[in-house]
Amino acid sequence: MLNLTYEYKLIPTDAQRETIDQWLTICRKVYNFALRERKDWVNSRKCDVNSCSIRQEYTIPADAPRPTFARQCKTLGQAKQLIPELKLPHTHVLQQVLRQLEAAFVAMWDRGHGFPRFKQRMRSFVFPQLNLESVQRFEGADWVNLPKIGRVKIHLSRPIPEGFEVKQIRVVKRASGYYAMLTLQCDVEVPQALLSGHGIGIDLGLEHFLATSDGELIDRPRFFVDGQSKLKSLQRQLKRKKKRSRKYSQLQHQIAKYHEYISNSRKDFHFKTAHHLCDQGQSVFAEDLNLKAMSAGMLCKHTLDAGFGQFLSILSHVCFKRDRYFAKVNASGTSQTCPRCQTHTGRKELSERVHQCSECGYQTNRDVAAAQVVLQRGYAAVGHIAVNFGEGKLHE
Ligand SMILES: [Zn+2]
Repeated sequence: MLNLTYEYKLIPTDAQRETIDQWLTICRKVYNFALRERKDWVNSRKCDVNSCSIRQEYTIPADAPRPTFARQCKTLGQAKQLIPELKLPHTHVLQQVLRQLEAAFVAMWDRGHGFPRFKQRMRSFVFPQLNLESVQRFEGADWVNLPKIGRVKIHLSRPIPEGFEVKQIRVVKRASGYYAMLTLQCDVEVPQALLSGHGIGIDLGLEHFLATSDGELIDRPRFFVDGQSKLKSLQRQLKRKKKRSRKYSQLQHQIAKYHEYISNSRKDFHFKTAHHLCDQGQSVFAEDLNLKAMSAGMLCKHTLDAGFGQFLSILSHVCFKRDRYFAKVNASGTSQTCPRCQTHTGRKELSERVHQCSECGYQTNRDVAAAQVVLQRGYAAVGHIAVNFGEGKLHE
């Protein structure tokens, strides 16, 4: 089973625009209400008997069950009888909002993400199940059939690949307009490329975007640093404007468009880097960011640049398309091992840019050393003969 996500621009009518906006508002309200319910429940359990505040005591009875995804879906069903507004969006769309909230909690429990926050704005909603042929062509245009919204014109900038079905559609609102993210699924089992040829391990980092086991260092484009400072300056300007004035909303729109521009450029950079890696080798190994037991160093990386997750999924996609073997390995402690003699060298300070092994004398850039350990672990996981790094013999 193979999943792909393709994004297309939507060209909705004014009425459809209004409907989408309205649904987004309702989704946001449902999300925030459900989060409030979960938050209240957590708070009511937090205090011990002696210090329980009155407010918390009366909000929720002691035996109230924890609001889970299933319970909240049920509550939503009941709320529909009382609040007609909730009947407007498709049922599945609202249930997906609750699922999204559940996912935010799971990310907090399993991966140490922060407590979910209330949403100021909802950017997208999902139709999780669709009937066949939701994308059709007639009257010289392409259309996507969205339940309860109807046929919306779609700009099919690239064709949906042969053998794939549309499984899910996410409608996204951005500063530059409305988009549809189509999750395409191919039911035919597609074998992954075999491990072969030259292998590359990569280490994602802060100083350099990534380091390879071949010793290449790829930097973030200068653009990201400049882009951030431009964004900050725009936000400072926004603070000086009067809220709800024309200038304010103009600037707000400008900021939103700039955000979009940055994220598009980031994606572009990720694709280019992924292709570049595929040019270098036939097998690519990366660290797995989604492991529960993340070392402190990894956690820090993860929070500092959310782009890593996106890069890895783009990399796996590009590797697939270009018939390269791709695998993720457990990366905890990769910077604490010597790739030449496997000695545990201990935690390095962030300022220590060089790996220098006191046992064998191997010396290289610290991120390159980590990438080499990633490659060795990747090979070891499939029972491949290990590679040695560094000049000369290992044990004399
Ligand atoms: Zn060593």
